Amino acid sequence: MVENLVIIGSGPAGYTAAIYAGRAQLKPLVFEGFSAGGIPGGQLMTTTEVENYPGFPEGVHGPKLMQQMRQQALRWGAVLIADDAIAVDFTQYPFAIASADLLEVKARAMIICTGATAKRLHLPGEEKFWNNGISACAICDGANPLFENADIAVVGGGDSAVEEALYLTKYARRVHLLVRSDHLRADKTMQERVFHHTQIHIHWHSSPINVDGDEVLRSVQIRDTQTGAVSDLTVGGLFYAIGHTPNTQLFQDQLELDEAGYIKTQGKSTATNIPGIWAAGDVQDCVYRQAITAAGTGCMAALEAERWLSTDAIASGEGNAIAC
Ligand code: NDP
Repeated sequence: MVENLVIIGSGPAGYTAAIYAGRAQLKPLVFEGFSAGGIPGGQLMTTTEVENYPGFPEGVHGPKLMQQMRQQALRWGAVLIADDAIAVDFTQYPFAIASADLLEVKARAMIICTGATAKRLHLPGEEKFWNNGISACAICDGANPLFENADIAVVGGGDSAVEEALYLTKYARRVHLLVRSDHLRADKTMQERVFHHTQIHIHWHSSPINVDGDEVLRSVQIRDTQTGAVSDLTVGGLFYAIGHTPNTQLFQDQLELDEAGYIKTQGKSTATNIPGIWAAGDVQDCVYRQAITAAGTGCMAALEAERWLSTDAIASGEGNAIAC
């Protein structure tokens, strides 16, 4: 039995691809995941309120949004399997996928939506305050009342860190940017903005080593990376912006990846370097990383796959991208 379309991943990209492919009567099979790359449903499953997803003027809980996308995919005939894909073979056609529960599946077309995982520091006490003061997404969580007029710390010195620091000044009284070295690696213009922002204070050579609080986070302990001196900083929030790891371990040596491990897509499409395989969501996007952009690329991938499957592109060996 060969499936028309197998989707790996169940964040906004995976479910949106499943909804579109389901409506196109492709009966997509979705490996929702079980333990690989975080929990099924993706990064929104660990977010509280999502207030920037269009259509929800009062905001919506991340897990609820994902549950609704899942329901919508089921309604349109997607077959959802709570199982991890653990091996793929893209050198053969139809493509081969093996799962942790020993399923062996063949697919005419595939969409990869395995997402990315925000890096954590794994500080002692981090689990306790995750979503109670600690977050890895300012845009998702910055407007939480917890951070209103509070002092907030952001860890990192790249583009994400400076963007998050600037973004958080809307809500926070003061933002402390904790940089482990003596320089930022962010875009120069953004650096200038951070240097001149009156609400942002940069702590060079500073690395968090512990967190403390009661019900919510109250302080972070910082070690000076040069002298080893330890100090406490009173903050109501701690945001990690130390990079993401794309969940592409499964595709190494099979799909073309960039230097950071993200799947390379072609031009304006979600086409990978292999005809018949598309990639959507954070697994191919290190810039926008929003639920809405992930959903958008999931839609693109499904439309591209449907078009590809319904023409004689397979026989003629045409690429994945579709033209106007
Ligand atoms: P980066 O990998 O660029 O930066 C990570 C930062 O976190 C570095 O400053 C690094 O320090 C620091 N860091 C890493 N590990 C630790 C740790 N354990 N403790 C303390 N600090 C740590 O990640 P970004 O997410 O910022 O960016 C990823 C990519 O996405 C980049 O290519 C970036 O340009 C791009 N991007 C683009 C945006 C845009 O164009 N608008 C927005 C956001 C990201 P050190 O420098 O010492 O290694």
